[in-house]
Amino acid sequence: MNADFLIVGQGTAGTVLSYTLMQAGHSVLVIDDPKPNSSSRVAAGVINPVSGRRFTVAWQYDEIYPLARDTYRHMEQLLGVEVFTERDIYTVLPSEQLRTAFMERTQGLAYMEEPSDRRIAEYGQWLDQPFGAAIVKGATVRLSALLPAWRQYLIEKNSLLEAVFDLSRLIINEKGVQYGDVSARYLVFCEGAATTTNPWFKNIPFLLNKGEVLQIRIPGFSTPDIIKRSITLVPQGEDNYWVGSTFAWDYPDEAPTAEKRAFLEEGLQQLLKVPYQVTGQLAAVRPSGTDRRPIVGMHPDHPAIGIFNGLGTKGTSLAPAMAAQFAAHILENAPLQPDTDIKRFFNRTRG
Ligand SMILES: Cc1cc2nc3c(=O)[nH]c(=O)nc-3n(C[C@H](O)[C@H](O)[C@H](O)COP(=O)(O)OP(=O)(O)OC[C@H]3O[C@@H](n4cnc5c(N)ncnc54)[C@H](O)[C@@H]3O)c2cc1C
Repeated sequence: MNADFLIVGQGTAGTVLSYTLMQAGHSVLVIDDPKPNSSSRVAAGVINPVSGRRFTVAWQYDEIYPLARDTYRHMEQLLGVEVFTERDIYTVLPSEQLRTAFMERTQGLAYMEEPSDRRIAEYGQWLDQPFGAAIVKGATVRLSALLPAWRQYLIEKNSLLEAVFDLSRLIINEKGVQYGDVSARYLVFCEGAATTTNPWFKNIPFLLNKGEVLQIRIPGFSTPDIIKRSITLVPQGEDNYWVGSTFAWDYPDEAPTAEKRAFLEEGLQQLLKVPYQVTGQLAAVRPSGTDRRPIVGMHPDHPAIGIFNGLGTKGTSLAPAMAAQFAAHILENAPLQPDTDIKRFFNRTRG
C-alpha cells in the first residue's frame, strides 16, 4: 500500500492533521492504538478565550478560534454528527478581589458579557455566587463523538490501522518511509504523552501532567452553559456533567486517585447549593512541552519524519490552526512560527 502520509495516533492531533491533509487531496494511513484514557478521550473539549488565574487572553486566540470553529463545523457536515457548540462560560467569581481583577483585565474584550440580573437569579437556587458572575463566550467540541466518527470515516476510506506502531519495522529510505508493506512519503507522530519514548524526538523537553475529572449527575439541573469557578462543569446532556480538572506533575501512574476526587468534590461543594451524585472518575496525561507551546515540524536530519504534539491544555482550540500551518509547511515549504517549530529544540553548533 502507498500513502502520502503515515500518521501515528488518532487523538485530537492525529484526527485534525489527517483531516487537514485529506481535505488538501492527500492520502493518509493512520495507525492508532485506541487507548481509552488518552488525553483526547478524557478531555471535555472546552474552548475558553480567557485562561489562568490572571485571566489573560489565550495565546493567539483571535487567529486560532475562527479556524477552529470553521474546521469543526465542516467536520460536522462531512461526518453527519453534531460536535461543535458555542457556549457561554458562566464564570462564578469567588471573591470581591477577584471580581475586580476579572473585570479590569477583561474589560472591552469582545467575548465578555455582564450577565443580566435575571440570569443570575435563574442560577440562584443551584449555585452559590455571593460575588456575582461574568460571562465569557466560549465553545465545546464533543470529542467523544468526533473521534469515533472520524475513525469510522478513516475505516471507510481504508485509511486506518488499529495497532501499536512498531518502530522496529520502520525503514527510512530515499523515497520516504517503509513500514511493513506500507510506503509513505512522510511519517508524522501524533502520539500525545506516549511521545516521550520516541527515539527520534528524545531531545524535546516535555513536561507531561496528569489531569483527573469526575462525571456527575445534578438531579433536576440542566443548562447549556459551562459553569466555572475553581472547577469547571461541562454539560453532557440532561443533568449529567463533566467536572474538571486537576493538575499533577509528579505521579506514580495514570489511575484516578482519591486525593484528586476529594479536591474536585471540594470545588463542587463550594459551587453547588444542591446535592450531586458522582457517576465516574477518569484520569489522563496531558502532552505539554516545557514552554507550553505546540511542538510542530519535521526532524532536521530525517525530513521524512515529523511530530505534531505539545497541545497541552488547549488541544481543541489549537489543533486546527497548528495542523493548517504544519500542512502548509510540508506541502508548500511555508515557514512555521518560531515558537512552535521543533527547530527550537535542535539548536546546534555543527553545520
Ligand atoms: C483531564 C483533562 C482535561 C482536558 N480538558 C481539555 C479541554 O477542555 N479543552 C482542551 O482543548 N484540551 C483539554 N485537555 C487537553 C487535550 O486533551 C490535549 O491537548 C489533546 O487531547 C492532546 O491530543 P493528542 O492527539 O496530542 O494526544 P492524545 O489524545 O494522547 O492522543 C494520542 C493518540 O495516539 C495513540 N498512540 C500513542 N502512541 C502510539 C503508538 N506507538 N502506536 C499507535 N498509537 C499510539 C494513543 O493511543 C492516542 O490514541 C484536557 C486534558 C486532560 C487530561
